[in-house]
Amino acid sequence: MTDQPNTKPVTANESPEEEILFVSLRASSWSEFSGQEKVKKALHVSLTAAKKRKEPLEHILLYGPPGLGKTTLAHIITKEMGVNIRVTSGPAIERSGDLASILTNLEPGDVLFIDEIHRLNKVVEETLYPAMEDYALDIVIGKGPSARTLRLDLPKFTIIGATTRIGLMSAPLRDRFGIIQRLNFYPPEELEVIILNASKKLALTLDNVAVKELSKRARGTPRIGLKLLKRARDFAQVKGKEKIDREVLDEAFALLEIDHMGLDDSDRRLLKSLIEKHGGGPVGVETMAATLSEDIGTIEEVIEPYLMQIGFLKRTPRGREATEKAYRHFNLSYSNKNPQQEKLAL
Ligand code: ADP
Repeated sequence: MTDQPNTKPVTANESPEEEILFVSLRASSWSEFSGQEKVKKALHVSLTAAKKRKEPLEHILLYGPPGLGKTTLAHIITKEMGVNIRVTSGPAIERSGDLASILTNLEPGDVLFIDEIHRLNKVVEETLYPAMEDYALDIVIGKGPSARTLRLDLPKFTIIGATTRIGLMSAPLRDRFGIIQRLNFYPPEELEVIILNASKKLALTLDNVAVKELSKRARGTPRIGLKLLKRARDFAQVKGKEKIDREVLDEAFALLEIDHMGLDDSDRRLLKSLIEKHGGGPVGVETMAATLSEDIGTIEEVIEPYLMQIGFLKRTPRGREATEKAYRHFNLSYSNKNPQQEKLAL
């Protein structure tokens, strides 16, 4: 079992980021990782205690919408512990054998980062239980009556799992994580700091208004803030401007179709279809997905969390509902909301 399927070996000092776009901007230390103070504090305490006891860290589960820093935190933790990280993802580990191969190649104290851990298949997940709890792997050798189980000891390692859908994880898997932390959307003030730091790394000049505008439209998400910053840089370059200002941003946002609340085309399509075709709801997510020809997972994981966060959308037991705030955003009158009539009109 020497080959390492589906993981990328990385030393503590290297960046394993596949998204080349973000390589130069990835926060690489606690001080560069702004915001999420409660999470940072909790992790820091566990890290310091583990280091003092000279023990590996407990297994950590980080959850929350995409782009909030789960992967980045995993790398910062690994760096601080001075160990190696192996990066893989739930769907990449197809068989128990893949997992066995990854685990038996870990060094004591190493971190195995499993992104999208909610997508591990059942068989692999069950192989993971004894590995997480007892640092052992039970391997079945042979078939039929001659089959026997072999217990392999593993080095003491740490799993850092990341998921956007903690609700889809089974309770036994969730319970095996000693530390579970939720990452929340960032308020604009924190995004301003992240955008300013990134602009320094990219040697860009931004005026105050531009920083505020970018952070307002970043949907509470550092990854989106950084992406917008890079797009704005392209616009400034094309226009031959030294500085990213209001004018550059207005043009960039108009072309990217991002409005003043940070809503993009997918958000607007969802809200408009909810309001115009379904009388503002309530309507089930399956119906929304069919109406928009969009994947349910994308609606639930990527589009809806921010719309709920800004109070444009409600999830109710009967389905999704657009709020009065959403109607006002599109200059529509909420008092005219009459689902029955609108449904009949269809
Ligand atoms: P996730 O794993 O949650 O999808 P990532 O860790 O890949 O998110 O973060 C996406 C990008 O945003 C990275 O470039 C990362 O450096 C940056 N980023 C995320 N959170 C922060 C933060 N709190 N401070 C600075 N940069 C951040």
